[in-house]
Amino acid sequence: MKILVAVKRVVDYNVKIRVKADETGVDTANVKMSMNPFDEIAVEEAIRIKEAGKAEEVVVVSLGVAQCQETIRYALALGADRGILVQTDDALQPLAVAKLLKFIVDRETPELVILGKQAIDDDSNQTGQMLAALLEWPQATFASKVELGDGDARVTREIDGGLETIKVGLPAVITTDLRLNEPRYAKLPNIMKAKKKPLEVVPAADTGVDITARLVTLKVTEPPQREAGIKVASVMELLDKLRNEAKVI
Ligand code: AMP
Repeated sequence: MKILVAVKRVVDYNVKIRVKADETGVDTANVKMSMNPFDEIAVEEAIRIKEAGKAEEVVVVSLGVAQCQETIRYALALGADRGILVQTDDALQPLAVAKLLKFIVDRETPELVILGKQAIDDDSNQTGQMLAALLEWPQATFASKVELGDGDARVTREIDGGLETIKVGLPAVITTDLRLNEPRYAKLPNIMKAKKKPLEVVPAADTGVDITARLVTLKVTEPPQREAGIKVASVMELLDKLRNEAKVI
């Protein structure tokens, strides 16, 4: 079995985001970029399936600028076998990503595609669902446990008030939730070895896929500043303020 994993290069989750002065987006100049955390979980799951002898190959795909190769190399250092970069300098929205991924899936014919449930930069939570729809494959989103059977996968999902387990026939699209696994770190020798693993670059323009943006960002703004708190002298004063000023009791 071949597993395809989508890995997105995003602003590192530890970075304090700065909004551009003209409110057109987030400042990414000189900012540390990393693999989307949910995609690290997706890579980890694929590698564990391979280590368990249930898959022969793990292929990682990233879409975007040339620097996404770093994200792919990291996945290769973690244990993926091969990488594909669909390269473009254009900003990609989820529908365009899903269409480009479909192009790669049609070419690679994997039995399983694993994505993160959401990218921490756009928080769209759309790509996996759109990809499944375009492929007309079943989807199991927000997976917290994946067990592969003979031609199917049992996927446990955290839902309100409990755990839901569903069965999907393969090929299928799975998206990862936080508790699916704890990703490993790349070891130095593996980082060196990853440099020699195959990484193919496919210009997005060569795919024939229409990646035109469908949504217009009107503006991006900072959240409102939190106001400083005040100290009250007594419980009675607190109650008075809550009742008469904040009007919450
Ligand atoms: P989103 O729908 O944007 O929240 O993204 C959900 C998932 O789709 C991510 O966790 C990735 O697995 C995948 N994805 C989205 N954009 C890209 C991209 N540019 N390159 C690779 N994978 C992506």
